[in-house]
Amino acid sequence: MSGPIYEPRGAAKEYGDYALNIYTGCPHRCWYCFAPGVLHRVKEEFHSKVEPRNILVPLEKQLATGDYAGKTVHLCFTCDPYPTGCDTTPTREVIKRLKAAGAHVQILTKGDGSRDFDLLDGEDWYGITYTGAPTVLAEPFAVKERDRVGKLMWAHGLGIKTWISFEPVLDADDVIMALSRLGNFADKVKIGKLNYHPSDIDWADFGRRAEKVCRFLGLDYTIKESLRREMEAGEHGTR
Ligand code: SF4
Repeated sequence: MSGPIYEPRGAAKEYGDYALNIYTGCPHRCWYCFAPGVLHRVKEEFHSKVEPRNILVPLEKQLATGDYAGKTVHLCFTCDPYPTGCDTTPTREVIKRLKAAGAHVQILTKGDGSRDFDLLDGEDWYGITYTGAPTVLAEPFAVKERDRVGKLMWAHGLGIKTWISFEPVLDADDVIMALSRLGNFADKVKIGKLNYHPSDIDWADFGRRAEKVCRFLGLDYTIKESLRREMEAGEHGTR
């Protein structure tokens, strides 16, 4: 069924069976942002011209003709559902329509999604990205990591399912500490690496330490395939 909800392919599929992108760009200007490359867009334009995509009517049609009841839709892959400094009413309207159709949402943001907590229930997911790097340098216009964590804890307290995406990882030690500190506020965690950019992090060692913490805390965790490959290569001494 054509429409704004689509089935991600490749590595993106690790985040969910369905996804939807609400905005044309993202103002957060993370230095590692992969989205302009994926979308074949000029980086500066992607970060400076952020508008809602014209998706509400097509979404209503898609929901009316497809069966999305009980399905979870990831928001978003190629943009942030809560772009800082922008009107995020379109996100609210998307969530309302998905919920009215019986679907659930899986939010992933470096912004502030608390305005929509009233729309979410125990079948929905509110997630943040945690990279371990100073936001002012790595994600200059995103909400600071400590404030994202605060919103995650708030959602957790409201009974909304919470998750943390530790990807990309910019500071391995900081991420390991965050995993220990925050793991119990997240109903699931996903751990990856830094792809497409050079890094001096020993990924095999990082992955093993992260997995040890997850097991110790009894977390529901996923090691992303790219990191798992590094861990396995490390074990076999082929790195
Ligand atoms: S929040 Fe995501 S889409 Fe926005 S600039 Fe950062 S990496 Fe790119």
